[in-house]
Amino acid sequence: MLNQDLHIHTVYSANDSAVVPEQTIELIAGLNHARIAGISDHFENLVGGAFEMYQREIRAAGLKLGTEVDGGKWAEEAAAYPVDYYIVHCRDRAADYRCLEHLLATGKPVVVAHPNALDTDLDRVPDDCLIEINNRYVWRSDWRRYYGPFKGRFKYILSSDAHQPHWLSQFVARHVADELAISECILF
Ligand SMILES: [Zn+2]
Ligand SMILES: [Zn+2]
Repeated sequence: MLNQDLHIHTVYSANDSAVVPEQTIELIAGLNHARIAGISDHFENLVGGAFEMYQREIRAAGLKLGTEVDGGKWAEEAAAYPVDYYIVHCRDRAADYRCLEHLLATGKPVVVAHPNALDTDLDRVPDDCLIEINNRYVWRSDWRRYYGPFKGRFKYILSSDAHQPHWLSQFVARHVADELAISECILF
């Protein structure tokens, strides 16, 4: 069983073609693959009505309630939603770094999603953010060079970023964390 898995998508991320129709909140809750599990569907799919049902289903399943925010354009709106934590796309642009600051001001955990895949400049990320080592993307870069210099500066979480049931694993992320001697931070 995983210690923690807070970056998981479900059918609420219907705009994401990698999500399969079987990837329901109920299925994930039933698998019990992590001691602490949270759902983090794309925020743009939850605004405009779907959030209420999303929230109810996640709470009923006993999972943590998160959302994945696609950078600066959603910062204001996302800060107003009663989620437990944020997973944030931070591309290398000022509005996205400001988004991190804005969401940190809510007092909730702010996780920088797969930064190596979005060319996030970790030098510009506020110290209080958590940095994700993401099973789906971490191997797509020279992770030693990317994460290595920032080992001591941030806390880290490991994520599956699962869009399908068999993606609910962290084998690659865990290998990277072990190689870098990074221990994961348990948020809840
Ligand atoms: Zn993402
Ligand atoms: Zn994601």
